[in-house]
Amino acid sequence: MSNASKGTAVVTGASTGIGAIYAQRLAQRGYDLIVVARNRARLEKLATRISDETGRSVEIVTADLGKDEDIRRVEAALRNDASITALVNNAGIGAALPLLNSDVDTMEAMIKLNVVALTRLTYAVVPGLVARGGGTIINIASIAGVAPEILNGVYGGSKSFVVAFTQSLRHELADKGVRVQAVLPGATRTEFWDVAGQPVENLPEQIVMDAADMVDAALAGIDQGETIT
Ligand code: NAP
Repeated sequence: MSNASKGTAVVTGASTGIGAIYAQRLAQRGYDLIVVARNRARLEKLATRISDETGRSVEIVTADLGKDEDIRRVEAALRNDASITALVNNAGIGAALPLLNSDVDTMEAMIKLNVVALTRLTYAVVPGLVARGGGTIINIASIAGVAPEILNGVYGGSKSFVVAFTQSLRHELADKGVRVQAVLPGATRTEFWDVAGQPVENLPEQIVMDAADMVDAALAGIDQGETIT
């Protein structure tokens, strides 16, 4: 555990799953946190546990990043916070249904969260990072971003966007001190699979990772300078 503050890391979708582990690991590495999700009770529990364990400050922002007004409220808060040094764009939802069985409004909502919110929050944070001389952007994509046939096509397409956007950011920000990483997890044991309508218990046990192992592998990747992990 580090006592020197590394500034503030913003983690979206931190109330459970992969985001909750990122929040804990980044606090252990010396970051104060802003944790964003819809479920306030879960965020409060997480914040208490992390600040008790690490001594870092944890600010809670409840927001539905599928809604324009909430995205804009979070953007404004991030744009004006000069303590921010890292952003983990993790909030996302999946779907396992093929096109013929999917509801197009649900698909649009998925694009809003997985693509639009991630893009707008990145635009809110990056100029400040560049002006302050550097920082870190971690975008959680998926293996479906390079193998879109394995789940729902809109989900795969949304994650392909995250991969391409991250590669472009890396190119653009390489000489500005901003580290950029896209993380492409395979199947990870979280509530994601319940939300997607395909319980994780239905997957072969040997292909499923624990969220803690997934996040530790991804952090090892960025520590080694990987753009795509
Ligand atoms: P999860 O356990 O379902 O967690 C999703 C998180 O996103 C929760 O904290 C949830 O919090 C938040 N969230 C969902 N909708 C939101 C909204 N409208 N506004 C704000 N926050 C919202 O899923 P996970 O597995 O940790 O997924 C995290 C990321 O990993 C996603 O981008 C997912 O696509 C990606 N991923 C997961 C897997 C996997 O196998 N699990 C594999 C590859 C990629 P609230 O409900 O409190 O809002």
